[in-house]
Amino acid sequence: PNIEAALRDDLGKPAVEVLTGEVAVVAREIAAARRMLPRWTKPRRVGVPLFLWPAKAQVVPEPLGVVLIIAPWNYPLQLTLVPLIGALAAGNCAVVKPSELAPATSRLLAEQLPQYIADGSVQVIEGGPEQTTALLAEPFDHIFFTGNAAVGRLVMEAAAKHLTPVTLELGGKCPCLVDVKVDLDLVARRLTWAKFYNAGQTCIAPDYVLVHQAVESALLERLKRTITAFYGPDPTTSRDYGRIVNLRHFHRLTAWLRGGNGEVVCGGHADEATRYIAPTIVRNVPANAPVLTEEIFGPILPIVPVSDMTAAIEYVRSRPKPLALYLFSNDRALQRCVVAQTSSGSVVINHAVVQGVVPNLPFGGVGPSGTGAYHGKASFDTFSHYKSVLNKATWFDLSLAYPPYDDAKRKWLRRLV
Ligand code: NAD
Repeated sequence: PNIEAALRDDLGKPAVEVLTGEVAVVAREIAAARRMLPRWTKPRRVGVPLFLWPAKAQVVPEPLGVVLIIAPWNYPLQLTLVPLIGALAAGNCAVVKPSELAPATSRLLAEQLPQYIADGSVQVIEGGPEQTTALLAEPFDHIFFTGNAAVGRLVMEAAAKHLTPVTLELGGKCPCLVDVKVDLDLVARRLTWAKFYNAGQTCIAPDYVLVHQAVESALLERLKRTITAFYGPDPTTSRDYGRIVNLRHFHRLTAWLRGGNGEVVCGGHADEATRYIAPTIVRNVPANAPVLTEEIFGPILPIVPVSDMTAAIEYVRSRPKPLALYLFSNDRALQRCVVAQTSSGSVVINHAVVQGVVPNLPFGGVGPSGTGAYHGKASFDTFSHYKSVLNKATWFDLSLAYPPYDDAKRKWLRRLV
């Protein structure tokens, strides 16, 4: 109940979204770590070249030390605790900095984490840029940052001073490709759910849709119908639809709705007092409009028609590598082609957003969408140093490699190495 209340305060998050998008993800990660820890922590034997025999070589994971975890506001619980689970599973201590823009959740974490983890291995520091900057001046053994790329640069710069390794979980524009021969009702349901979950404030939410022009109007029709089916004729009254985190983001998004970003097909309504922005779909968007050049991170979905899927792939390839890419198509050849010809943190075929809840799939970006990955074993790897240990027996010592080097030794060594 405390968690639900905090997330309702911060983001108007529906209880079901608290369960599926925050609590369940954390619980699954804990369960996976507890189950797999004996296997993850076990030293791994590796082979030794003949000329070094007799010897034993192994790779031994060890904790990095004290790590800093900096979290964003959109999934303020999950994006703080899931990295923490990995850090603790790998044996580290952690300083955790929740987002000041989700103050209720930040408070909850600051109050409750020390109660549950009472051995002092986790410290929660609350605050915004000023406190984070102060923390970043300290020499940590790893920094795990989730947030936007501008702050990511500051984190990397601060880390460079101490040669601290970083994981950067960043954002960007995640494209969604819709082919011709698809079940448009299914596409509309999955797309509507993925886009408007948490009112579009999801780093891997479909940012825009590249749809085959032959099905553009049919898709628009289905999306409109699905939005009404999900949130009712007036989504302001729906208990299943979230709110924008604060006024700064509310004004950033509503400024885009006032013009220059295409024609509003559905939604477009906003209410400042409750930070509500309707699930909104826009079309006929100019190529240089902000909704097509900046990360949207809110409930606005631009629909862009393309002549075919080759054009869609070209569109994606000519832009920065996204965090996630979605393809709706049953054409196996096209599925293979999209996976092979585009680069992104992840690809989901015929769904969206759900990759985040598969613990065995590493979660992270590539290039401008991020550096490094986590979830499940990938979290353990991120927060571990894999130390190489070579143990050479003493009962036998081949003198071939020692000086003085003569022709006979050289001949033997040539064979051996
Ligand atoms: P943000 O970068 O504004 O804030 C993240 C953290 O950085 C917060 O804890 C904040 O206190 C701190 N911070 C902000 N400004 C700072 C400064 N000048 N100096 C030092 N620290 C500072 O990000 P946000 O707005 O909370 O989150 C939205 C962004 O995060 C989006 O771009 C989204 O795509 C991305 N995101 C990525 C993932 C992912 O898993 N890859 C998940 C969620 C969000």
